[in-house]
Amino acid sequence: MSDSDTLSCELRAHLSQLLAFDTTSRESNLALIDAIADYLAKLGIESTQIYNDERTKANLYARLGPSGNGGVMLSGHTDVVPVDGQDWSVEPFKFTESDGKCYGRGSADMKGFLACVLTALPKFVQANLRMPLHLAFSYDEEVGCLGVRSLVDHLNASLEKPAMCIIGEPTSMQPVYGHKGKVGMRCKVHGHACHSAYAPSGVNAIEYAAKLIGKITELTEPLKAQCDERFEPPYSTLQTGVIYGGSALNIVPQYCQFDMEMRYLPKMEASTTFHALEQYAHETLLPAMQKVHESARIEFESLSAYPPLLTDPQSEFANWLRQWSESSEFGTVAFGTEGGLFDEAGIATLVCGPGSMDQGHKSDEFVSVAQLNRCLAMLDNLCHWMSL
Ligand SMILES: [Zn+2]
Repeated sequence: MSDSDTLSCELRAHLSQLLAFDTTSRESNLALIDAIADYLAKLGIESTQIYNDERTKANLYARLGPSGNGGVMLSGHTDVVPVDGQDWSVEPFKFTESDGKCYGRGSADMKGFLACVLTALPKFVQANLRMPLHLAFSYDEEVGCLGVRSLVDHLNASLEKPAMCIIGEPTSMQPVYGHKGKVGMRCKVHGHACHSAYAPSGVNAIEYAAKLIGKITELTEPLKAQCDERFEPPYSTLQTGVIYGGSALNIVPQYCQFDMEMRYLPKMEASTTFHALEQYAHETLLPAMQKVHESARIEFESLSAYPPLLTDPQSEFANWLRQWSESSEFGTVAFGTEGGLFDEAGIATLVCGPGSMDQGHKSDEFVSVAQLNRCLAMLDNLCHWMSL
């Protein structure tokens, strides 16, 4: 067995501890955050926990090395997606190693990366760092990058802001400089119910929702004109993903709601498209609806949103990441990260982490030992570069 196939005892211990916490986004992540804070305290690193309003979840932020602005931040989310309805052949919240692969919910997305960071930390503590190392571990990333926002506020308010950030989302250790942004919206159509035999006296919420969905399809077409070949597909997209409405065939439906999302290219304004949709709803559909019944209305509600990421792959930081990760190819990914939010805060952000999103969110999620060891090597290179 070569070194790349062997999992160190430290890494195994960290990964099995992290995987054992069920940090599905709907659950509390505090037990995991406390365990990490305890470990940091043992290494002499003070950490800050930034709680949600209910104090059921927290971000963890820590800094080591010299004080002041600058340095590198290692960032990852602590929550995982649900295992509900998935057919797992191993226990999802337990570490299982087999054939050079480490199984468990979150092993790839992204507790494998967190375990590598924790494993590498003693080296950073012993090193004579010439710049600060920041750690940013968030909650509720999987439900729309919600938790990290208070962490970004914390960094913005702090006088010690990192200059660069590496997010360890699973990219098979290939450096990534960009992804699309996303906006999720819910549309609620309130019609007017009546017996279906008198259909013209009612306002059919499903039929008006259908008109709106038709408009969404129409609005998709002009988006194709604005292309950026660095992304796949190379243009922004819109789609309706969930719908429900109505109660019985002989009742004109009172209510219908549907959820839609837009995945948009960097440098594009998602609001232009949503504005066109709202304008159609309020100026074209609503007058016709209210002519039949004045209580009819259409509401739009934001579900989640995160900005796109586009960092210059020719920047100094990108060139350093090429060296640390020992891979020269820079690319983009289809999934989103917290990177756009860090970027908005003025922190140059790139994505590079162990494992692949081919395994993320699926049953029998795994990260290979070889990928974990490549990540440890990257952190080793980073530590060396950050040291005097
Ligand atoms: Zn993730």
